[in-house]
Amino acid sequence: VTRAEPVFTVLSSSGKARRGVLHTARGEVQTPTFMPVGTHGSVKACDPGEVLGSGAEMILANFYHLSLRPGIDLIEDLGGIHSFMSWPGSVLTDSGGYQLFSLGHIASFDDEGATFRSPYDGRTIKLTPERVVADQVRLGVDVAMVLDHPVGFGTSEDLTADATRRTHLWAQRCRTVETGKTLLFGIVQGGFAAGTRRESASLIGNLQFDGVAIGGLVLGEPAPVRYAAIKACVECLPERLPRYLMGLGSDMEILVAISQGVDMFDCVLPTRLARTGTVLTRRGRLVLRRSRYQKDPGPLEEGCSCPACQGFSRAYLRHLYLAGEILAHRLLSLHNLHHLGGLMAEARRAIEAGEIDQLIRERALLLSQGAASEPRPTSTT
Ligand SMILES: [Zn+2]
Repeated sequence: VTRAEPVFTVLSSSGKARRGVLHTARGEVQTPTFMPVGTHGSVKACDPGEVLGSGAEMILANFYHLSLRPGIDLIEDLGGIHSFMSWPGSVLTDSGGYQLFSLGHIASFDDEGATFRSPYDGRTIKLTPERVVADQVRLGVDVAMVLDHPVGFGTSEDLTADATRRTHLWAQRCRTVETGKTLLFGIVQGGFAAGTRRESASLIGNLQFDGVAIGGLVLGEPAPVRYAAIKACVECLPERLPRYLMGLGSDMEILVAISQGVDMFDCVLPTRLARTGTVLTRRGRLVLRRSRYQKDPGPLEEGCSCPACQGFSRAYLRHLYLAGEILAHRLLSLHNLHHLGGLMAEARRAIEAGEIDQLIRERALLLSQGAASEPRPTSTT
């Protein structure tokens, strides 16, 4: 499909970092952007208005999970994913390649597609690349992802080569599906070696997708291997395409990837950490259950505009968490989402000012001080 309007506009750059706009059927998404994860059509514990308030403009839902429950037909009948979940922003769905890979022995891949047993009712399901794309279009998503075949860190060269060949074959088959207003992103695989990453990025980058994701990373590889693989991919991808790095969520990793030219991110970290009572701050992770916060009247982070920091003390939030109150999960999740939304806004401003490297140095310095070193208001008791 050749599109009449450009899908992605680069507004300014700082080194390799880009400040851009992704144009979806729902509207504009300012990049670099962070997409909160709403696997089952909900960012855990947060309602859509609250997610929007954190600065998120696009969320990631999961095609694989939604297709099993409640099913594509039901969501389509109810008007599509946006109206079903009452989310006014853009939606990207992951295709499920990663979920199928994670199922290990209960899923198998061949050139035809992926076969697995439903974890809900045990029935055998076969997904073909064409059907995965066509069904995401039926969900009404703004960005659909191709079906791919990731491999874990430590997989042999032979198996990696076979999975990468299959990913490329499937990408070409996905490309034949008419997607209408839904943008279709290819996924680069190629294991963990720079050479095979370059080959995969060159091939996927030339298939006329609306954007390209770098997949198959954050699967247990050491950080230097990850950075080298990202660099190799970005070098071989066309400038005009938005680049999405799947599954990366720590502040510094995101900033470094932005400086390498990545535009889009998603991660379960903000909501998953919240459920363990851990909050993200500019100085690193703050573990709220620690007794040092028991009588702390200060907010989770000074200057944060989230509902948790605007209304509640560390002492109260810690109490809610320890008492198992649902409100703790919601408020801590919102704080963490605001934290990442704020990080992306700062990154966009830094790129506009030509200062992305400066931002990375500043944030690295803050992180090196540690969350525990954050100045604490003196307790009133
Ligand atoms: Zn906050």
